[in-house]
Amino acid sequence: MLFSDLGLQPELLRAIADQGYTEPTPIQQQAIPAVISGRDLLACAQTGTGKTAGFTLPILQLLMPGTNPLRRVARAPRVLVLVPTRELALQVEDSVRTYGKYSGVNSFPVFGGVGINPQIAAIRRGVDILVATPGRLLDHVQQRTVDLSAIEILVLDEADRMLDMGFIRDIRKILQLLPERRQNLLFSATFSDEVRSLAKGFLRDPLSVEVARRNTPAELVSQSVIHVDRDKKKELLLHLFSQHGWHQVLVFTRTKHGADALARKLDKAGIAAAALHGDKSQGARTRALADFKAGKLVTLVATDIAARGLDIDQLPHVINYELPNIAEDYVHRIGRTGRAGSAGEAISLVCADERDNLRGIEKLIGKSLAVTLVPEFAPSAHPQPPVTPPRKPGGERRGPSGPRPASTGRPGGAHGKHRSGSRHH
Ligand code: AMP
Repeated sequence: MLFSDLGLQPELLRAIADQGYTEPTPIQQQAIPAVISGRDLLACAQTGTGKTAGFTLPILQLLMPGTNPLRRVARAPRVLVLVPTRELALQVEDSVRTYGKYSGVNSFPVFGGVGINPQIAAIRRGVDILVATPGRLLDHVQQRTVDLSAIEILVLDEADRMLDMGFIRDIRKILQLLPERRQNLLFSATFSDEVRSLAKGFLRDPLSVEVARRNTPAELVSQSVIHVDRDKKKELLLHLFSQHGWHQVLVFTRTKHGADALARKLDKAGIAAAALHGDKSQGARTRALADFKAGKLVTLVATDIAARGLDIDQLPHVINYELPNIAEDYVHRIGRTGRAGSAGEAISLVCADERDNLRGIEKLIGKSLAVTLVPEFAPSAHPQPPVTPPRKPGGERRGPSGPRPASTGRPGGAHGKHRSGSRHH
């Protein structure tokens, strides 16, 4: 199937061709005709499936002058896209711009953490598609700087994330402010009871579309683990960089502090790096992401929260410098690569006190991760092959070498590690 088979206007086809895309992804094949026909949509689709274009393109088509049975009201926004994070707001709005560049439809992102006045000015000038995080949108509502009475289409993007982040009350408030007659599209990577009940509350006879099962890591991502001592991780990472000549790598750390320290270290070693985390100003984050996309930075060192909603075309490598505490975060992390058909690679550097996390991840994704041996960095206390554990008094290596007791304080962590070590070989 080609994009031209979907009945899209030439202006949109031209913008798609500019991106070099020829074939619509499965979610696009299903969502585009349904949305154009005016139906509500309930879509189970993760980031990386092409879902953003799946709703952006048909919405642009509906808004384009002359193609649209819907009446244009003043200059109040006609489409509202609600997203959980500012990064996602920026990225979705960027997609609207990309696909809409020949359409005459305009858009603006609205999110907290930045001055409200430029947003007020933009809304006053007139915005067709408003992409907003719920909190800041309600600020505008309260200040009466936005008029939602002309909304014809509502999109909830990453609905599960929004609920996870506690936005349910804000969403319900916003729903009350919208005209009753409107088209609704809901996108979610997972379908908990909460998401279902939200969907039931406002979708009318929706077409259900599913393109990825829950917690299925992108199939194209090759995943592996390198076991290494904690204090050798930096060196190993530098070794991997020099060995592979990587040029676009997203590295995950567990803490903001860790992200800063690692980015500094990489930068010093001649690998252009920046840290991306919640303490960075919005300006710094946007700049870092732009530099990374433009190839000025070789690597971004990010925390899980900061990386939510990151959309980087053809990101080839994700490195888990530290495993996340929450197994689901691993799936989100590796979902940053191997997107929309390109192959990706995710490598996790795992030290002894992260074995429990590794086991949790393997349980969640339903398979063991392949182990790559880097002989120069083989961990000193790696039980290989399984041997009777040396029980020296006070011989627990983790205490002094671990950075902080808090990160290792899980009871039972030490006991399982020999068994798990042997299982992974
Ligand atoms: P999304 O799932 O919306 O986050 O999109 C994932 C990535 O796929 C984005 O970087 C898009 O630019 C890209 N993409 C979207 N549609 C297509 C397509 N039809 N062919 C190739 N890449 C696409």
